[in-house]
Amino acid sequence: MAAKCTHTCSDCAVLACRSRDESKYPTFCLTEHVDEKLLKDVVEIYKEDEEQGNIARVSAGIEGEFYGKLTRVEETIEFIKRMGYKKIGIASCVGLMNETRIFAKILKANKIRYYTVGCKIGAVDKTEIGVPNEKKLNRGCGHESMCNPIMQAKVLAAQGTDFNIVIGLCVGHDTLFLKNTEAPTTVMIVKDRVLGHNPVAALYTANSMYSRFKKELKL
Ligand code: SF4
Repeated sequence: MAAKCTHTCSDCAVLACRSRDESKYPTFCLTEHVDEKLLKDVVEIYKEDEEQGNIARVSAGIEGEFYGKLTRVEETIEFIKRMGYKKIGIASCVGLMNETRIFAKILKANKIRYYTVGCKIGAVDKTEIGVPNEKKLNRGCGHESMCNPIMQAKVLAAQGTDFNIVIGLCVGHDTLFLKNTEAPTTVMIVKDRVLGHNPVAALYTANSMYSRFKKELKL
């Protein structure tokens, strides 16, 4: 039964579920109040569903073997190899195509096949889906292609990719890609134009340069 409380895991100071230290669970603990039947059914998924079970076991193996040793790029290569994926789809932002080219070279050096689709595929003007001219970056001075993550997902599905990687899609565009992708997908780079695509920097610096968050956080 769900805890009748507005506190959730982000209010927890002990994180005792990591080692199942029941004596330290807070009163609102989500593990303590978990729906046991649902939990049992979920564990069965890992045991019975070959694809999802493999992904879970391979991920845990890489975490256990390489914790703090491999970069995300290297972990991704390792994951692809261990999963036996044959053709990788890359859904890339056109603004990060240089970085995507470097990653593609790394895939090639590891003898991994790939197929890249940029976010502007089809070159459809933003006004075609109802974005008004004044909301375009060019404020309506000519054609401006929309990001087309649904098309990226469809093209990669048609290519028969068995694992997809998102590189630098915007907030929301990544949502649409993840909603439409047919192959299992990981995100390598998330878009943050201000912080060098490293959004956690805003949280690390919440006490200093991000003083605009202070009021909300009551720091
Ligand atoms: S499940 Fe319980 S112990 Fe784990 S983070 Fe949530 S509240 Fe804390």
